[in-house]
Amino acid sequence: MTSATPERLRLLTPPLPCLVPEGVFDEFGWCASDFLELRRDARWETRTPTSGVNPAGLAFILSHTPPYLPRELAKLHVGALASDDEWALAPYAIDDATDALCLHRARPREVLSLAATNLDALMWGLHDWCHFHNHGPFTEPAWTEVQCDASALVWLWQNRAALGLDEGTWEARRAQLERVASQRFESEGLGFDAGCYARGRLITLAEA
Ligand SMILES: [Zn+2]
Repeated sequence: MTSATPERLRLLTPPLPCLVPEGVFDEFGWCASDFLELRRDARWETRTPTSGVNPAGLAFILSHTPPYLPRELAKLHVGALASDDEWALAPYAIDDATDALCLHRARPREVLSLAATNLDALMWGLHDWCHFHNHGPFTEPAWTEVQCDASALVWLWQNRAALGLDEGTWEARRAQLERVASQRFESEGLGFDAGCYARGRLITLAEA
């Protein structure tokens, strides 16, 4: 990889079963996810931890610009991973896009691909990929996020060879996301079931 020529990977993103209580999603699986195109380059790093803050170095590149998706120049967010005239979904509009893609029945991969400079950005990009294929009213945020975290971890496991990730790196992300989730449940005054993030359960789902 060089910064001049981004590497392009096709990450497999097969749909997961619903892992959360009934009613958390109103249109679960309205579009079955299958793959996500990823761009990365020589800046790729796996050190930045995954916490509850928005990641740097992430952009969903728009292949065309439907009027219902707010956009910004992609280069502002991912530099050389995008050309000067490429647009990206505005980072503040992830929730809007979740609603709009479902409303317009627009298959996410026909509109969006991902550019990420680091593993933390990829984690949240995969998490958002789950939102884009499974619509929920977001009235139960902590539970909604469980489905998206689990999907991200399962997809990361399934693509670890293509991404060049070892099991220790995956396990560190799993533990970080579990901590983030536990804080979400605490802030909603709900009990947290760590079983949702259990290593064995996620690997079983990934290898099903
Ligand atoms: Zn989310």
